Amino acid sequence: MASNELQICPVCGVSIAANGQVNFSTGNPGTRARLYARVCQYTQQPGCINQDAELVGNITRTDGFERGEDIKLPQAANRTIG
Ligand SMILES: [Zn+2]
Repeated sequence: MASNELQICPVCGVSIAANGQVNFSTGNPGTRARLYARVCQYTQQPGCINQDAELVGNITRTDGFERGEDIKLPQAANRTIG
């Protein structure tokens, strides 16, 4: 087992592996860019660990929300589904 350092963003509730892989609550793992495009650019709170532009890198259109796909975050449950 590799001892990858795992950072957990206290704001977004998403874990980021040492290699930059972001593990969302649901769905496939993504990148810092994807996390930023979907979550962090909206939160922009001091405690967020994914606000470093150098680490985030280039955000592409596919990093945004795709049709029929959504991610669920612990503190984002104020949206009515269905
Ligand atoms: Zn964050």
